[in-house]
Amino acid sequence: MRVLLSLLSLGSVCVALDPVCVALDPTPLTEATVYLKRYGYLSSSSNAAHQGLQMEQMNEALRLFQKVTGLRVTGQLDGRTLVMMRSARCGLRDAFNTLEFRLLGHWRKKRLTYRIHNHPLPLGWARTREAVRSAFNYWSAVSQLHFREVSGGHADIQLSFHRRGQGCSVPFDGPGQVLGHAEGPESGAVHFDADEVWTEGRSYGTNLRIVAAHEIGHALGLGHSQFHSALMGPVYTGYRDGFRLHHDDIRGIQTLYGKPVERPSAAQRKPDADQSVPNPCSAVLDALMLGPHHKTSAFRGHYVWTVSDSGHDAPVQINALWKELPGNINAAVHSQRTNKSYFLKGDKVWRYSGFKLDHGYPKRLRIPADIDAAFFLSSRRALVFIKGSDYWLWDELGSGKLLLQPRPVSQLIAGLPSDPDAAVARSDGGVFVFRGEKYWSVSPALMLDKGYPRRAREPWMPCDD
Ligand SMILES: [Zn+2]
Ligand SMILES: [Zn+2]
Repeated sequence: MRVLLSLLSLGSVCVALDPVCVALDPTPLTEATVYLKRYGYLSSSSNAAHQGLQMEQMNEALRLFQKVTGLRVTGQLDGRTLVMMRSARCGLRDAFNTLEFRLLGHWRKKRLTYRIHNHPLPLGWARTREAVRSAFNYWSAVSQLHFREVSGGHADIQLSFHRRGQGCSVPFDGPGQVLGHAEGPESGAVHFDADEVWTEGRSYGTNLRIVAAHEIGHALGLGHSQFHSALMGPVYTGYRDGFRLHHDDIRGIQTLYGKPVERPSAAQRKPDADQSVPNPCSAVLDALMLGPHHKTSAFRGHYVWTVSDSGHDAPVQINALWKELPGNINAAVHSQRTNKSYFLKGDKVWRYSGFKLDHGYPKRLRIPADIDAAFFLSSRRALVFIKGSDYWLWDELGSGKLLLQPRPVSQLIAGLPSDPDAAVARSDGGVFVFRGEKYWSVSPALMLDKGYPRRAREPWMPCDD
């Protein structure tokens, strides 16, 4: 719609850059001049007294902008060029020195941590984390870089969403145009415009994975590419299925951090497998489950570990215990009533008896895909599934029927946050609910315990560091 409006408003505009024409309608020329100065195509000190020189600079700047954005190179301010200037883009300048990638500096180490401080509400925590994790994976797949998410304390790269004029030295502009910006090494600041419609895996809205990968590129030291189809090109080119880095992106990151080191078993590994072993003391959890055998299991990526009052075990691969179960699950719950374990991912559910997959599973879910958290509710002898601010209650033996109508979580437990990462039954019938670095404790009577939320790593389990 934004593009359509732009086209309509251009209908009456003369587009050639000659002085008479400009005198008739100076608005697009002013707009273009502001844009070209702002993004480094024109020096900000262009002098109005030397109009001839200025025209030449303007033509030159337009030619470069058209080349970089894949437009026909005319040096004229035509309609397509103006539409391109109104497209969604990165907030950093396009100050090119060469025709290739430009560098902003580099980190002096290759193992970096990152932390996501907040998330756009409609997208939710789980999808935000998944999008950001995928964004980092583009860069670690083609270089010697390793990335690890932490939920608290210091992180090398700090990602956050800011509304117009909030907490940012370069304020964002509300919906449209500037989507994000970032600082080069070793600052680690990566900011997103909270007013965009952030999405993941959809064709509408602004794809967080792609924009995050671009801004992370800056945080790692890459400037804007002059190849408009490169990830590091300045203008957002939209969501594409099967997106891949451009050779210019790859050469840039490998110049800074080297090519990936071949591992002996690399050929047998799935390309999308998350190889990093999570740190139980700092990992943001995918899911938590009490049972079987009254053990509490914590899930993150392709790993699971058990947690108790005395600490945690070493993480092991999930499919070493539950064969056929994929990594990166959304939720897990063990029924103390039927002794079955349920694992949810996307629109599917896997049901296990002990560590053996039940016949006919995985099955398609009858509740929405991408459930945030699940737990066994002792007082109702039922399973609770949470997504966003809704919950579904399922009585496994009550003629197998799911209550298909979602209800507000606030009616079940007043004061509980929406979009939890994980939830787990307590042995006394209460519940722990986790989101980001915090957790809440819920009594068996479904009241929030006082003194919560607390930081997840502190009293939840002993950690040395
Ligand atoms: Zn950029
Ligand atoms: Zn900022």
